[in-house]
Amino acid sequence: MVFSDLLTIWRNTGLEFSEIILAQEMMETGRDPVAVKRSLKYLMDVMLEEAQKNFGKPFKTLTGLTGNNAAKLCASKPRVLSEFNWVATVTALSMAESNAAMGRIVACPTAGSCGVMPAMLYALRNVKEADNEGLLKAFIVASGVGNVVAKKATLSGAAGGCQAEIGTATAMAAALMTYYFSHNPETVGHASALALKSLMGLVCDPVGGFVEVPCVKRNAIAVNVAIACAEMALAGIESVIPFDEVVEAMYHVGRSLPESLKETGLGGIAATRTAQKLVESIHKTLNSGSET
Ligand code: SF4
Repeated sequence: MVFSDLLTIWRNTGLEFSEIILAQEMMETGRDPVAVKRSLKYLMDVMLEEAQKNFGKPFKTLTGLTGNNAAKLCASKPRVLSEFNWVATVTALSMAESNAAMGRIVACPTAGSCGVMPAMLYALRNVKEADNEGLLKAFIVASGVGNVVAKKATLSGAAGGCQAEIGTATAMAAALMTYYFSHNPETVGHASALALKSLMGLVCDPVGGFVEVPCVKRNAIAVNVAIACAEMALAGIESVIPFDEVVEAMYHVGRSLPESLKETGLGGIAATRTAQKLVESIHKTLNSGSET
């Protein structure tokens, strides 16, 4: 089912949109909506727990390419970022670095993009004092947005570039914030479309194939894109292109990308001279470690 079908059901029934998404999941998979809601609540709680535990912490990652970014931003007083954006940015860095250090994360929609949704959830709860029930409904709506992309396109960087991974996470986070404040699925569609369009064409180019550079910082940028897109949609700004068509366009762009820009580590910033030198030195260090 595409997003416009979900909107049609909502317009015809006026049911709570998160319930429509759960009912749709039951139609497609046969899963009990109560059980699906329970597992989504569990995932949301894990994200919030890990965000709380990891906020601004330093990490030791396999390559050492990342691990100190969240701690640095946490120790630095923001000059222009609002408290909300700053908390979201620190959280996104923390979760993405925790992933690089083999910490517990929820792949949402993938491990590489695991920082974006917790960042939005944590900032809403801690800065805006969002209530759990409202957050859960918004989280279910965001998962419905992710499901549309999964069914109609791809969530994989190897198949569609980073636009499919972090782009989808950004659309989901924009949906989450928008639904929390508006309860309006049409506004959610605009926010998600604005977000996915903003990251259209983003290539997957991890240095050495490690999910660290540019992945960690991209999570942080992405949550700020999501916040801006949600604010625009909440202000009544509409996406000229509907969400479903943006998803289709993203899929076609992903198919058109060369293999070097789809998680092979051969293109984009992974192909720069500095990246290649770093990878050589990381491999030397890792090999010497395994020989001792
Ligand atoms: S660059 Fe590739 S590996 Fe890194 S987050 Fe994006 S899609 Fe995932």
